[in-house]
Amino acid sequence: KKFVYDFTEGNKDLKDLLGGKGANLAEMTNLGLPVPPGFTITTEACKVYLETGAEPVALSNEVSAHLEALERQMGKRLGQPDNPLLVSVRSGAKFSMPGMMDTVLNIGLSDASVAGLAAQAGNERFAWDSYRRLIQMFGKTVLGVDGELFEEALDEAKRAKNTPNDLDLDAGDLERLVDHFKEIVAKQTGHEFPQEPREQMDLAVRAVFDSWNTDRAKLYRRQERIPGDLGTAVNICSMVFGNLGADSGTGVAFTRDPASGHQGVYGDYLQNAQGEDVVAGIRNTVPLADLEQLDKSSYDQLMQIMSTLETHYKDLCDIEFTIERGKLWMLQTRVGKRTAAAAFRIATQLVDQGLIDEAEALQRVNGAQLAQLMFPRFEEHAKSQRIGWGIAASPGAAVGKAVFDSYTAVKWSRSGEKVILIRRETNPDDLNGMIAAEGILTSRGGKTSHAAVVARGMGKTCVCGAEELEVDTKRRRMTVPGGAVIEEGDVVSIDGSSGKVYVGEVPVVPSPVVEYFEGRMHAGADDADELVQAVHRMMAYADRVRRLRVRANADNAEDASRARRFGAQGIGLCRTEHMFLGERRELVERLILADTDAERDEALSALLPLQKADFIELLEAMDGLPVTVRLLDPPLHEFLPDITELSVRVALAESRKDSNENDLRLLQAVHRLHEQNPMLGLRGVRLGLVIPGLFAMQVRAIAEAAAHRRNVKGDPRPEIMIPLVGTVQELEIVRDEAEKVIAEVQAATGTDLKITLGTMIELPRAAITAGQIAEAAEFFSFGTNDLTQTVWGFSRDDVEASFFTAYLEKGIFGVSPFETIDREGVGALVRSASEAGRATRPGLKLGVCGEHGGDPESVHFFHEVGLDYVSCSPFRIPVARLEAGRAAA
Ligand code: ADP
Ligand code: MG
Ligand code: MG
Repeated sequence: KKFVYDFTEGNKDLKDLLGGKGANLAEMTNLGLPVPPGFTITTEACKVYLETGAEPVALSNEVSAHLEALERQMGKRLGQPDNPLLVSVRSGAKFSMPGMMDTVLNIGLSDASVAGLAAQAGNERFAWDSYRRLIQMFGKTVLGVDGELFEEALDEAKRAKNTPNDLDLDAGDLERLVDHFKEIVAKQTGHEFPQEPREQMDLAVRAVFDSWNTDRAKLYRRQERIPGDLGTAVNICSMVFGNLGADSGTGVAFTRDPASGHQGVYGDYLQNAQGEDVVAGIRNTVPLADLEQLDKSSYDQLMQIMSTLETHYKDLCDIEFTIERGKLWMLQTRVGKRTAAAAFRIATQLVDQGLIDEAEALQRVNGAQLAQLMFPRFEEHAKSQRIGWGIAASPGAAVGKAVFDSYTAVKWSRSGEKVILIRRETNPDDLNGMIAAEGILTSRGGKTSHAAVVARGMGKTCVCGAEELEVDTKRRRMTVPGGAVIEEGDVVSIDGSSGKVYVGEVPVVPSPVVEYFEGRMHAGADDADELVQAVHRMMAYADRVRRLRVRANADNAEDASRARRFGAQGIGLCRTEHMFLGERRELVERLILADTDAERDEALSALLPLQKADFIELLEAMDGLPVTVRLLDPPLHEFLPDITELSVRVALAESRKDSNENDLRLLQAVHRLHEQNPMLGLRGVRLGLVIPGLFAMQVRAIAEAAAHRRNVKGDPRPEIMIPLVGTVQELEIVRDEAEKVIAEVQAATGTDLKITLGTMIELPRAAITAGQIAEAAEFFSFGTNDLTQTVWGFSRDDVEASFFTAYLEKGIFGVSPFETIDREGVGALVRSASEAGRATRPGLKLGVCGEHGGDPESVHFFHEVGLDYVSCSPFRIPVARLEAGRAAA
């Protein structure tokens, strides 16, 4: 196996092996751009080191061979006293990762070679400046010396010279500083600073390997779901010097604005400086455009190179460069990070420039970005005081009064107050408070903390880990940097998309993207911004290529109409239980309490016209499109009063000797229907089989509503869906009954209704016997919420708040299986049931209803297994459309 690649040997597609930085340095080298020569030690070498605790045996010789070649090319040897070659040792994993080791520059300098470097450059100050930088970086990152100690020594030197500027330190000052730095190293590590050049290099390489497993790097990988066994590559790159005087410098640039996508000159430049000085902010940088005045020829060359890179990568790139005495060197490039809005704009701009096609454009954006653009946001120019900045854990803009415990959150929200729940961290006891709050703010914890996970699950705005905020729950207050205090009841605003926290009320504005989907803003209109136009075009690309249809979960005409505006192609799930709430609850109560057929029929007849009216509205809102109505699903006790409350009421009444007949019967019924485990109890199709007439009434309401719509020249397309079927026999019985009712309605109204009958597949047994079930079902709709619960054997209502954070932290799963479909388990059942169903009934219509229908990754899976549609909540529809397009493109 080959462990070392020269920059001339690699290319940008070898990121797994060479890391991102190495692969792109190779790519630039082969494009003929001015990259200082060097070589890359592969991630494979790192993996061997991490597994065995030692570098692979062959590595040292391979490095020597490449180093010798480099020395020949440069005409000088590493650390050679009279004419030293210096190199940088740079980490570079496949994904860039905070917490990984920083780069060490100027490797090869020593007491012996510093004079040689001075002579070589004709600049003594420069040589000592480079040496002190080496000891500082090496000491901190390789030897683990506290960086503050070096900073203090540097400050002291500047103080002695009475200047805030490091450029005022002369060669003598820097030579003394080097001595001081060496003392710090000796004192802190018990060893002298290593003088042997190759030893410096090898130690730095090993430190890069080791930095793969720092706690911060590990935590970051878990949170970002980056596999822990990739390892990092190490780049050895010959040094070029931006600290040689005013004709030298270093800078960073973007090929276009990462916020707007506009082409132009974006970047910063710092004269007479090396490496990290630009980002470290030690001196003020100048805008890149000023380089044109400072060094016109380097500037022109840089512009030329940036355009070459854009055309080559066909995307926005960011770059690092250095100018050494008027000669430009490229030190890094990569496809640059960008905001969600810029991603959409840039994708369409690149299509217009002819650099990419529509299919490629779809790969440049994603549903998560679109979802981000749909959240309401804080007004941009609002004058508000930021008091903290935490982790953007769950997007949205929330404003409310600060409360520091769940009890108060619930109490205040019941009385109509909007509250922000502020905790140091949350735990399962905070669940009620989290539900009641507009948003959640914590001062501890990261993206997988309890607060973050639960908030995302609930779609609630959350900022977590805002560490500068000192939360004192006992005294119900929080102290902000600078000492100001936020008391319970003070208004705060939190931005879950940026992680920023403000004091006071920041005005919230609706997202222009939602305004567009709602039809309140047209992409062609004058006031439509570029973003809306870009979204409009990307949606069109997605709609053109996608195979999956997208339906909505909607129970009323209002949601259905919104869904339609958002592009829904029908309703995939209408939950009829939502129609039984409110005043109708009493009718359901009567149905449940009925002792005689007559009583029951009476309750059902009272419900029938109400249901029918609901369906008429819904079918009207979705005229011409399929509407899947699920017959009653939840356990009946959900419609009855709470057992404890009722018991107390009955007991009190008894003690006053005026017990009420109805309450007593109700209590009996509540006891009778009480279940230890209602999720697995009397619900779904089981209700239909046990409560005579219930399903028949619902079917009749649907059929009569359809007949009515026909009569007014509508185009109703109802589909009836039976929930929680485990075996084909259940379905057959309900089906026979339903067909009879439909036939009656057809006869009575003289219409031909074409109502299809299908089932949900949401129990493992249904999935396993899908081939049989398909004999009685005209369509399947995978209820992946229940299927996930029953396949994993855990109840969503309980586990998300209890042990999921522990599971996420331990890496048992990277994301909740309720959020993204578990491909290997639940997904395998969806796949095999689809195949079995279609084997029985070719052309069987397949869909999915459940949260997964709007989850980007899950949408890709459903596309792969060949479903016909996904169904999701109205607000997720654009996301599902986009992702379905991306899956097909
Ligand atoms: P990071 O990933 O933190 O950006 P880099 O390896 O890119 O780390 O290096 C840090 C800084 O040092 C960058 O500004 C880079 O341009 C500069 N640098 C790295 N290698 C060299 C080199 N061989 N010559 C001059 N500057 C270098
Ligand atoms: Mg860099
Ligand atoms: Mg279900």
